[in-house]
Amino acid sequence: GKTTYRNFPMVPRVVFGKGSFSQLGDILLPKRKNSEAPFIFLIDDFFENHMLALQIPLLFNDEIIFISAEEEPKTEQVDAIVARINEKYDEKPSGIVGIGGGTLLDLAKAVSILLNNKGTAKDYQGWDLVHKPALYHVGIPTISGTGAEVSRTTVLLGPERKLGINSDYTTYDQVILDPDLTKTVPKDQWFYTGMDCFIHCIESLNGTYINAFSKSYGEKALELCKEVFLEDIPESESRDRLMMASWHGGMSIAYSQVGIAHAMSYGLSYLLGVKHGLGNCLVFQHLQEFYPEGVKLFDQMLEKHNIQLPKGVCSNLTQDDFDIMVHVALGMEALWENALGPQWKTIMTPERLQALYEKI
Ligand code: NAD
Ligand code: ZN
Repeated sequence: GKTTYRNFPMVPRVVFGKGSFSQLGDILLPKRKNSEAPFIFLIDDFFENHMLALQIPLLFNDEIIFISAEEEPKTEQVDAIVARINEKYDEKPSGIVGIGGGTLLDLAKAVSILLNNKGTAKDYQGWDLVHKPALYHVGIPTISGTGAEVSRTTVLLGPERKLGINSDYTTYDQVILDPDLTKTVPKDQWFYTGMDCFIHCIESLNGTYINAFSKSYGEKALELCKEVFLEDIPESESRDRLMMASWHGGMSIAYSQVGIAHAMSYGLSYLLGVKHGLGNCLVFQHLQEFYPEGVKLFDQMLEKHNIQLPKGVCSNLTQDDFDIMVHVALGMEALWENALGPQWKTIMTPERLQALYEKI
């Protein structure tokens, strides 16, 4: 039959530059429906007593909701925020602005979808289940690496599974990339979330789904990651480049897929609540057989930045625990097929996968 190519949405508007966050008020102004339709700002609570909170361009009945990024976003959390907004305002908001890392960016995407679509967030976990456009939504990353600012998914932990709301309406309408917002990121977190981007590149470039579109973005992101994590460049330049690496890394996987580290990291996250960036690192260090060049570079990066990954994370788990993680990880079929090809089930058996988990 004839191949059907995916018709892929992109972020239609983006601002880049140090200090560009100060333009937010001007950007939102023409999107205000009326004085009763607020903008709702969902902001990482790290910024609660921070200058950034004072620079939010509040007008009329706009509201700031501070949210902890301690745990990864959950479907119930999305439903609770949506219910609160629906109860409080007579009019639908003019839009949602998400400010933070992947956690806040994903929450804001999901909230904007659920404000315009009936039911609960778990109903939309999957592929192309959203039928009405989301409310206008703006994403402003404060840490670089996930690519959530550009992707068409929002990854949520639901009652039954951790799965994205993948849809054409998930993608942001507007993104503001201000590298200055990442100045306060702690070093370990900078590394873990930055490695999410690095691993996106390795998994995309070494996958069977690779194509010229993804390759062009993946190679650029990989080059930027190497500059940021292996060379000595000025800090401000490094922040700029990592922000663009995240963007390109996200674009690269959009038209291909991630791979083994992500599949396994989902298992760790589901069972133990290990966060995405750290989980990817914990897994990736043991994937030499699959990504030899990538793991070599990763080891150099760990050493250069003197990062000590936690040890013994899986040492006290029961067989039931391993079964759950293996089940969750093997459920990510597209990731395995991308990594190992159509015969992946004969290559990655449950026993082999458990042996990898046991190393962590
Ligand atoms: P995060 O949003 O979970 O934040 C990590 C930590 O950094 C938090 O403690 C947060 O408070 C802190 N932080 C963020 N910005 C800061 C700043 N400027 N200064 C100081 N501290 C700051 O981290 P993340 O790694 O960006 O996101 C992980 C999440 O992203 C996971 O939930 C994962 O599922 C999701 N994700 C989504 C996609 C997607 O395409 N939608 C892709 C990859 C990952
Ligand atoms: Zn990732």
